[in-house]
Amino acid sequence: MHKIILDAGHGINTAGKRSPDGRFREYKFNRIIRDAVAEHLRLRGYNVEILNPEETDLSLPDRATRANNMTCQIGLPIQNVAIISIHANAAGNGSQWMKARGWCAYTCKGHTLSDELANCLYKAARKHLPGQYVPERDFSVPELKILIDAVQAANFVTEKKTKELIDRIAALGGSFRGELLKRNMAYFNSRKHSNEAILYSVDAIEDAILRKKKIEFYYFDLDEDKIRVYRCDETGERKHYRVEPVALILSEDNYYLMAYSDRHPESTATYRVDRMDIVQVVEDSELSEEALAHLPGVSDYTEQVFRMHNGEPTTVVLRFGKGLLGPVYDKFSEKTEVRSVNDTECEATLSVRVSKTFYGWLAQFGSDIKIVKPKEVAEMYYGHLRAILDSLSEKY
Ligand SMILES: [Zn+2]
Repeated sequence: MHKIILDAGHGINTAGKRSPDGRFREYKFNRIIRDAVAEHLRLRGYNVEILNPEETDLSLPDRATRANNMTCQIGLPIQNVAIISIHANAAGNGSQWMKARGWCAYTCKGHTLSDELANCLYKAARKHLPGQYVPERDFSVPELKILIDAVQAANFVTEKKTKELIDRIAALGGSFRGELLKRNMAYFNSRKHSNEAILYSVDAIEDAILRKKKIEFYYFDLDEDKIRVYRCDETGERKHYRVEPVALILSEDNYYLMAYSDRHPESTATYRVDRMDIVQVVEDSELSEEALAHLPGVSDYTEQVFRMHNGEPTTVVLRFGKGLLGPVYDKFSEKTEVRSVNDTECEATLSVRVSKTFYGWLAQFGSDIKIVKPKEVAEMYYGHLRAILDSLSEKY
């Protein structure tokens, strides 16, 4: 059995709470709506009680006391009792008519049974109050789905952590939790990293950057059997790195630490965080002047890493069949400047890092894509392909 206690906000003696011309009084509106709601609920067989039958105002503590007493007397488990307070929200300065419209529900902090009820009310309001503004409550189911997919797609979040995070995100969906988890079964990311420590490493690095301290760690690669092979120093011992952290960057689905080391003062070094082990903040340390000088220009560092892997940016004109517009947008963004040259072909002017990565991308489209300008880049691409062919013809 369920009981619904209805409360009507304010009272005849409450100051304000009225329309600019004074004809509409909130206490009165609240009581009219309350009585209509009570009648509808009783017709549907609900056990309804009125918290404040009087016209006068009741302070909030008095309302809470009365509500608690009523709930105790009922003798029902608390989760079977709903208390709903009816109000008319105000908008504006009290002297002018405003255009505000709509409907909303307030619940106490945190996720409780009240939120489940509010979600039901919102669902009904969207259906039965077309054209009225009904705000989103916390996250909608599609928004939560996006968050779940993002966690699922992130390689640096391990399988185990992914499961934990997905459970917690799904819990935000209240009664839609099961649905969210079920829908997620279809997705599977097989490229998840195995380093469970990555979140702790990220945390330690951020802490060090914030407090301007050095960090220490071990660094490893994975061999053909996925066994960790730790980097060693000159003596063959596992190398204990000590660096000055400058920035933590998420790029191409990996976290990178950019660090300064006085051994290589001319540049910063980059480490993949998922290849770091036992990351520790060196408490009795301070960042050097040189490292601190690097701190403000984090975006330059991202640029630097890029350059390191991918060469200098060059303006390149590509010609390709219109069928390749999709891959070009995917690679170089939808903001790419493209013009049609004839019925079947387009040309795009791009800022490209000319590198083996770029040649590799071009080669997948075979003869359907051509470098129009500059001539040197076209020649370098030709040279790259020629070298591959030559190396193959030696073997076959
Ligand atoms: Zn009110």
